[in-house]
Amino acid sequence: MAKPASTRIFTVANQKGGVGKTTTTVNIAAALSMGGLRVLVVDLDPQGNASTALGVPHRDIEGVYDVLMGSAQISSVIQKVAGFPALDCVPSNSSLANAEVNLVSMVARELRLKEALDEISPNYDYIFIDCPPSLGLLTINAFAASRELMIPIQCEYYALEGLTDLLNTVRLMQSKLNPELEFLGILRTMYDKRNNLAIQVSAQLVEHFNEQVFYVSIPRAVRLAEAPSHGSTAVAIDPESAGAQSYLRLARELLKRLKEAE
Ligand code: ATP
Ligand code: MG
Repeated sequence: MAKPASTRIFTVANQKGGVGKTTTTVNIAAALSMGGLRVLVVDLDPQGNASTALGVPHRDIEGVYDVLMGSAQISSVIQKVAGFPALDCVPSNSSLANAEVNLVSMVARELRLKEALDEISPNYDYIFIDCPPSLGLLTINAFAASRELMIPIQCEYYALEGLTDLLNTVRLMQSKLNPELEFLGILRTMYDKRNNLAIQVSAQLVEHFNEQVFYVSIPRAVRLAEAPSHGSTAVAIDPESAGAQSYLRLARELLKRLKEAE
């Protein structure tokens, strides 16, 4: 797989919970790193799901919270992901739940993650930031630190309701904090091509966002849901499964889009 000219930093965000942010982050990161690219996952969610899915310890250790608070260097909290020579993780940790409150009084509170990533980004081709299901200061830190934004969306009835708020926040970020931030695209997750409602919501998304909707969609697939219980990703444990194949296709589409944009 081709290396980008410079490090590309992605935020995977949607303030709606359970839409596939973490599943997307870890599988696409694993897919790219299996292709020989150097990839870092930043687990910015106090739930620590991305750390769990990558089999990285995260409960009572230093992690991204300490980095945001300035009490640890990012290079000292990075962990290797077993079985993936080119994949690293900045784990979440339990204290991260306090970050939204404790960041408020800090200097340049929106830029804490960006400043930390600036120190290590040259070591990676791609960095993926997995966000919590909210538009609070953690997600704002991710927006400020990244160039590309991916929004996983589950094609169901309420899917579009929070999207306006999310895109307004993105526009605000672009005008005030990070003019480089690009809305790369919407990813349809847990997509059932035989379900009428899913088809309707998908059609609405394509009508509004055209080519900003990824061509590849992710089907509902049991392997994707099971893999975290093995501390691993579907692309690692069962690369031939339907779910893993869809993320491998997504990784190829992503690289193609980035190349076209360069
Ligand atoms: P949160 O907002 O809580 O961080 P999230 O947006 O990160 O959630 P995930 O944790 O990735 O969402 O997914 C929610 C649940 O759905 C998980 O149990 C996950 O294993 C499952 N899941 C995600 N994608 C798929 C899929 N394509 N097929 C089947 N199950 C899936
Ligand atoms: Mg998650």
